[in-house]
Amino acid sequence: METVPGASSAHAESAQLSWAFRSHPGDVRPENEDCVGAFAPAEIEEHGPLFVVADGMGGHAAGEVASRLAVESVLQTWTTAPPGQPHQQLRGAVRAANAAVFAASLDNEHRGMGTTLTALAFAGAEALVAHVGDSRAYLVRRGQTSQLTADHSRVGEMIRMRLITPEQAAHHPARSQLTRSLGYAPAVQVDLVRQELAVGDAFVLCSDGLWDLVSRSEIAEATAGPTANVAAEALIDAALERGAPDNVTVIVARVLEELPLPSGARRSGPLGIFGFGR
Ligand code: CA
Repeated sequence: METVPGASSAHAESAQLSWAFRSHPGDVRPENEDCVGAFAPAEIEEHGPLFVVADGMGGHAAGEVASRLAVESVLQTWTTAPPGQPHQQLRGAVRAANAAVFAASLDNEHRGMGTTLTALAFAGAEALVAHVGDSRAYLVRRGQTSQLTADHSRVGEMIRMRLITPEQAAHHPARSQLTRSLGYAPAVQVDLVRQELAVGDAFVLCSDGLWDLVSRSEIAEATAGPTANVAAEALIDAALERGAPDNVTVIVARVLEELPLPSGARRSGPLGIFGFGR
């Protein structure tokens, strides 16, 4: 899949964590406006592992600029943050990414660009998820998939108000309209989810190009094996088999070993494994 323009992948295993990401332009779109990044040091000493997916939008390739800028900004802020509370650091990193995309969107050629962003960090015995837009984070635990994030979309809000069913949302004309995204205003409200970890947990982050085509039970099935890379490949393949009209991106991170992961309270240190791509 590396031979496809706009496709990228990376994966690694440590004693504590198996992770992988894959991003593919899909079968219809010439460009990939999704972007994905991972900070996953082999030895976790300072800042905990961080995984980010962003789905950009905007004409004339501005969507690609927005998603890449947002992912780079979050990784940069997280890996250079002074000691502090990880959940506050993660939320601050997403706010900083919003400011960076907003500032860049003031250029004429990038006017109106924006992006979704969903970030997963591990700190202590917790997973932290920061989220804006309609990309998603799922947790698969003991074979059950639960969605950790709320979709910031018109149809997402209508489902929460019980005005429409999820089945109706799948065909609703407003299904791609976001109610919150990064880069449209100087400040943005960032959702933050704190989830206690258990050994065997698999976290799945993905853009709508994936969750639109792949069901929760398929996500549970794909992540049943021990290796995140096999799961990520299976999920992308499932979307491609169904025609993938949109860009498809997935990150899988599985907790393999005793908790807690170090919480990352100390400063500085070498970067270990660092993956980035679209
Ligand atoms: Ca998309």
